Amino acid sequence: MKVKFWGVRGSLPTPLTSPEVRKKLISAIWKARSLSLDNSPEAKLEGEQTDIISAFLDSLPIEERGTIGGNTPCVQIIPDDGELIIVDCGSGLRALGSQLMQDEFGLGEGKASIFLSHTHWDHICGLPFFTPIFIKGNRLNFYGGHDNLEDRLRSQHNPWHFPVPWNVLGADKKCVQISPDSPFNIGNTRVIMHELSHPGRCFSYRFEGEDGDVIIYASDAEYKHLQHSKVAEYIEFFQNADILIFDTQYTLTEALAKEDWGHSSAMIGIEMAMEANVRNLVMFHHEPTYDDEKIVSLCKKTDQYQQILNNNSLKCNIHIAYEGLVLTTENLSG
Ligand SMILES: [Zn+2]
Ligand SMILES: [Zn+2]
Repeated sequence: MKVKFWGVRGSLPTPLTSPEVRKKLISAIWKARSLSLDNSPEAKLEGEQTDIISAFLDSLPIEERGTIGGNTPCVQIIPDDGELIIVDCGSGLRALGSQLMQDEFGLGEGKASIFLSHTHWDHICGLPFFTPIFIKGNRLNFYGGHDNLEDRLRSQHNPWHFPVPWNVLGADKKCVQISPDSPFNIGNTRVIMHELSHPGRCFSYRFEGEDGDVIIYASDAEYKHLQHSKVAEYIEFFQNADILIFDTQYTLTEALAKEDWGHSSAMIGIEMAMEANVRNLVMFHHEPTYDDEKIVSLCKKTDQYQQILNNNSLKCNIHIAYEGLVLTTENLSG
């Protein structure tokens, strides 16, 4: 299986600012001073010159060549059987919709299974801008743990909030309430839902591929007490995952100070991941007030923390979720 990240920011869409872009440009231009470019007056930005610059940019880490991204949560699970599985409908969903429109969804022949962790705005605000939902013939099945999922989605289309009512959206839309911890299948992918601790109720999803590979989406969750008895249910749910997408919105200090705000930190994530024998931890639901640099520094600190914790147990790789990132279970599980 693969997972592709379309939106990774928590709470609020967070566009990159001009001062942030400028800082990246200054750093890149400085690093580019050793490139052997054609300095003659006739030189043009094309062909080999463009290739040299592109290769140089590709060599830079994502936070220098681009950005981690400001769209709110939306990920695509890509199983081997070709089913389309989407988790959460944050603002990242808009770009996924544009891509889908180039294929069957543009013809009104698309089908998607959409899982919702919960319906806080940052997880549903992309839905009114998901073009496939406007096209008659497309089939969208929404799954979630809330008993009034359809009402929750409809209410976003109240004219007070959005001009196009739910009923006018052309696609065939079905909302299905699923029971926690009761496995069911989407194609050949086994899906299990488990409740997390978050205001208003929130659910995580475990996707098990036909090869036994596992991707878990566990965003928007607070782990107030880390004693084994309090986290045992989550450790069990995360057990042996190839990829665990985890709410790392805060620093550890903030996570402790912001009790009941419903979020966690990468330090807590790595502790739980190690205990659950997770191979790859993905930092996700980034805090809107953190810039790329700060998120990268949190990742480095978490890696150092893992080295302190690690008593020769298997290393868990730590990744920062960024827009456009694709992770493949086969390449990662080694
Ligand atoms: Zn959220
Ligand atoms: Zn939330």
